[in-house]
Amino acid sequence: MNTTDLRALASAFERKAARCEACMALVCPGWESMPAGFDAAVLERVGTLRDPADEDPTLAEHHPNGTHGWSAEAPIAPAFFPYNRCDVWRCRACARPFLRYTEYGGYYQDERVRELDGELLSDATP
Ligand SMILES: [Zn+2]
Repeated sequence: MNTTDLRALASAFERKAARCEACMALVCPGWESMPAGFDAAVLERVGTLRDPADEDPTLAEHHPNGTHGWSAEAPIAPAFFPYNRCDVWRCRACARPFLRYTEYGGYYQDERVRELDGELLSDATP
């Protein structure tokens, strides 16, 4: 998927929709760890931002306006980390789109999730 696909997915979701019991626990403007005990079956995978031809996508992040990785206002730039490792998911109940990736640390791995906000999408390239 590319930014065009993401924009379409984001605009297909009606933001003013009534709050959704199914995915309420996941709604977060910036990256968060998946809440413990969350029923992942609520989400369906709709695509990936990973380029299968690129085995080692860049670890560079895109923060032209002084945001950082956890910022709620950080751009969603699929050509940069961590978006270049994300899969794209959608709530089965309300179609709210989410991005997910797994952060691998030395001694842990952490499933992270961020709501896909079409306003924050960026076509920037490294
Ligand atoms: Zn939902």
